[in-house]
Amino acid sequence: MATNDIGPRSCHSCRGTGEIGTDTGVMACPDCGGEGVLPSSETLLEWRLRDIERLRCEGPDSLAADVRFLVAELRKARRALNEVLALAHDDPDAPEALRRVARIASRALSNK
Ligand SMILES: [Zn+2]
Repeated sequence: MATNDIGPRSCHSCRGTGEIGTDTGVMACPDCGGEGVLPSSETLLEWRLRDIERLRCEGPDSLAADVRFLVAELRKARRALNEVLALAHDDPDAPEALRRVARIASRALSNK
């Protein structure tokens, strides 16, 4: 992507161009994957989880096993929260209790 428009989702590392200059030339910006805009918070979280897995989950030690367990539990909990949100959004006549649960799920999923 080749734009210089800096918007709220624009990548600040490359200033929305998708490219960064290095000693060896121009390359795709590693923070936005060359898109110039930041991915959704869900995608950023998944990228972070993958980094954690790559850096901390290798090997047979108990710490790596614990981190694998926690990452898997986090993904499972987030999938469940997304299913709750989908249930509430799919039913325009959802009862107030479900809408309240959906708001709680939305807050839990938010990175803000
Ligand atoms: Zn970028």
